[in-house]
Amino acid sequence: MRLPPWGDLMSGSSGRRVSVFDTTLRDGEQTPGITLTPDKKARIAEALDGLGVDTIEAGFPVTSRGESEAVRRIAQMGLKARVVCLARADRGDIDEAVRCGVSSIHLFIATSPIHLRHKLRMNYDQMIEKARDSVEYASSMGLRVEFSGEDSTRTDIGSLVNVARAVREAGASMFDIADTVGTATPELMAQYTAAIRDGAGIDVSVHCHNDFGLAVANTLSAAGAGASQAHVTVNGIGERTGNTSLEEFVMSASRLYGFETGIRTVELCRVSQLVAEMTGFQVPGNKAIVGRNAFGHESGIHTHGVLSEPSTYEPFDPADVGRGRWLQAGKHAGRHGVDSMLRGMGFTLSPESLDMVVRWVKERGDSGFSVSGDDLRRMALEVAGPGERSMERNIENAGAGTGVAQ
Ligand code: MN
Repeated sequence: MRLPPWGDLMSGSSGRRVSVFDTTLRDGEQTPGITLTPDKKARIAEALDGLGVDTIEAGFPVTSRGESEAVRRIAQMGLKARVVCLARADRGDIDEAVRCGVSSIHLFIATSPIHLRHKLRMNYDQMIEKARDSVEYASSMGLRVEFSGEDSTRTDIGSLVNVARAVREAGASMFDIADTVGTATPELMAQYTAAIRDGAGIDVSVHCHNDFGLAVANTLSAAGAGASQAHVTVNGIGERTGNTSLEEFVMSASRLYGFETGIRTVELCRVSQLVAEMTGFQVPGNKAIVGRNAFGHESGIHTHGVLSEPSTYEPFDPADVGRGRWLQAGKHAGRHGVDSMLRGMGFTLSPESLDMVVRWVKERGDSGFSVSGDDLRRMALEVAGPGERSMERNIENAGAGTGVAQ
């Protein structure tokens, strides 16, 4: 793969595989206001499997009966992805996971002084003992264990290494550094990742939150420091301001840093839309990769550039993530863009007619109105002479839109 000139600044990333652990159905569903039925969860799990994620966290079974049922169903779907569920470091939670039929489990316990004191009311040694016991118990039930230190990033680094070492010795395969309240920086994530990997001798995963808008940057930094797995959610949904966005992480990891993921990127837009539809949580227009405006252009300078060579104003081909570009007529528009939109609708206007339409578009924009594809078509019909309309197309009844695929 060809990387941009700055792509090899992060040494050792090129070609290295980072696994994608998708937690849309667990942390994503914990977004305030989102709740998914087992049916919807199963549909999303199928789409995630098609997308090529390595692991699907299907839910947190002890929280409700529906949650248990959803995890059981997804575990039985015969997916290529590994199906895991979340459980506290507690034998009762582990028994429930076993009843759901998963072969892997994601255990967690809070490791930070704040959580130990105010939530668990436990001291550090008691916490380590509980972590170790739960991993031994889950392993004895034949489960593969990934262990998360909740609030890892507000835990002293030496103490966290000890937790990771204890759970590795008890049988865990992976230690997950959870930046539970999103307070880590890229530098801190790299430092913690290297310390756990080298100090405890265990594979590292990271789970980042977006409270400061750094979730993707923090996850990339951890990957650069040797993390072999990233927790992500589709559209970046999750507790509070969300988790690392799957689509942003996958595209930046592969296109800017040269990591490999198993994701079929052409499916990204479709899966994003499915999750938005199932959760009722709409994707903001200016969201990276999957937002409506990611490949939309209005300014005359930009549309002219994109029409002659797309890479002038697009970081990659929109088809790579399963979508197209679109152009918007507005006060920033130029002749090239408007002409291209009109040609897509079947008009070939004379320079004079095109001038009239462009002037009208700019006047509308200056008066505070946006110009839809239908508005543009109506205006063109008014000014177009007989030779300026395509004979093959029934322009009056053409569908809405600008004629440039979205
Ligand atoms: Mn979380």
